[in-house]
Amino acid sequence: MRNMMVTRDSATPAIVIGAGIGGLASAIRLRVKGYPVGVYETQAGPGGKLTEVRTAGYRFDMGPSLFTLPEQVDELFELAGKNPRDYFSYTTLPVITRYFYPDGTRLDAWQDPEAFAQEVEARTGEPAAHVSALLHKSRELYEITRHVFLERSLHRLDTYTRLDTLRSMLQVHKLDAFRSMHRANIARFRDPRVVQLFDRYATYNGSDPYQAPATLSIIPHLEHNLGAYYPQGGMYSITRALHRLAEELGVVFHFDTPVSEIVVRDGTAVGIRVGDALIPAAHIVSNADIVPTYRRLLPGLPAPEAILSQPRSSSALIFYWGMDRQWPETEVHNIFFSADYQAEFAHIWQSQTLWHDPTVYLYVSARVEPGDAPAGCDNFFVMINTPCDQGQDWDRLIAEARTHILRKLEAMLGTPVAPHIRTEQILEPRTIATRTSSWQGALYGNSSNNAFAAFMRHPNTTSRIKGLYFAGGSVHPGGGIPLCLLSARIATDPIVALPGQ
Ligand code: FAD
Repeated sequence: MRNMMVTRDSATPAIVIGAGIGGLASAIRLRVKGYPVGVYETQAGPGGKLTEVRTAGYRFDMGPSLFTLPEQVDELFELAGKNPRDYFSYTTLPVITRYFYPDGTRLDAWQDPEAFAQEVEARTGEPAAHVSALLHKSRELYEITRHVFLERSLHRLDTYTRLDTLRSMLQVHKLDAFRSMHRANIARFRDPRVVQLFDRYATYNGSDPYQAPATLSIIPHLEHNLGAYYPQGGMYSITRALHRLAEELGVVFHFDTPVSEIVVRDGTAVGIRVGDALIPAAHIVSNADIVPTYRRLLPGLPAPEAILSQPRSSSALIFYWGMDRQWPETEVHNIFFSADYQAEFAHIWQSQTLWHDPTVYLYVSARVEPGDAPAGCDNFFVMINTPCDQGQDWDRLIAEARTHILRKLEAMLGTPVAPHIRTEQILEPRTIATRTSSWQGALYGNSSNNAFAAFMRHPNTTSRIKGLYFAGGSVHPGGGIPLCLLSARIATDPIVALPGQ
């Protein structure tokens, strides 16, 4: 069986392993290039981390809740000759995030950058000009890095011979890569609440602001200069729209169908093994996390150990609470900060455990989607950052965290919360790992806690195996919806379209 011949001809499909956002985007791109495409997915439906859960009249987005760079999604519809607005729509929210501080300060991060800067000054005394300067620097960092680190392969020679790349390389000294994001923020701001607000952006790719390079200060640019969006129907509508587009284009989905092996012959990926069947493939894109891609699907082949052994990003603990009343003082996105951010992150990153006073993120989609909760009720998505799974006593940590989170929310909202929880579901590092095959339950693949992290992410191809490509949050350029979509573009770009496309 293992040595069975694999025959391929012009009708042999391209195969995508995994229907996460990077897998859906890869499937659409390959179909547009003219290939018959089959997607094989372990789960019963599409989306991977970008999925939803419904219970007792409540709907919750399960994973991502903040949507930036929507043009990356639109591009897929445009490539297929469709109008994205016929599939899904998004709007901006006037307030991106409402911040609650332990000292009672409440601060709204307005969508309008100038209004945001003024609000920071009004609530904290930090001059608005300091916030504007950070957002200006953030834009500059983005413009320098996007061509090299985000939109192209770091591992292809032609990336480095392009004019825009060369221009970026000449400005590399401006990247602020050799001090931490926190160090840069304390040099910029005098109010610790503002430092904490801008340190938080390190968590957007699962990193630690006390270690991650200040280069990651590009992230506020995405949110505050380019805009944070809310997709109508919730985040899951992105998955639903891409899945519908792919099906309309003729992509064939095989759900409840785990792939057990990528079959390689003479240095070329020629097919996949599903149960006892060997399915030939013209090209294979793995959207599965890079660690299990090597360890489980490519057994016996040498793995890039230096990359696979990098520290992973943080994970998360999420409670999905169906509430029996509303909290109109909350926005769609809310942050309840810890009193000691440094201690919180030292617990997550040095001790690999949880701090008794965690920063709590609360997402209430019912604020703008009344159908997401029964009338007069809220759907609380309550999340804290956690270390990735290293065998901690999660049952104990989760039980303790639940108590700490409730105590914190009740203190900062000034009302009881626990008695109003009608339904509860939990997602945590172990179940993130089992549901999406993410190694150690990391949300974003490797962490970005050092200046060289971008170079220690697996590339989107490998010179060792022809016909095999990688797309998703654990490979270049990184995790989060926009980067996963870019990874699908970089991975499939080298695949030549079939004649006539
Ligand atoms: P994944 O979603 O990881 O999916 C991979 C798929 O491959 C899975 O469905 C899995 O079942 C399948 N698979 C694996 N192995 C096999 C196999 N052998 N055979 C068949 N199928 C297989 N990002 C943002 O942009 N904004 C946010 O606000 C945000 N918040 C987040 C909050 C949480 C709680 C989580 C979990 C993530 C969050 N993210 C956020 C990150 C974002 O969700 C991910 O970066 C992105 O969705 C990952 O997509 P992916 O393409 O890597 O695939």
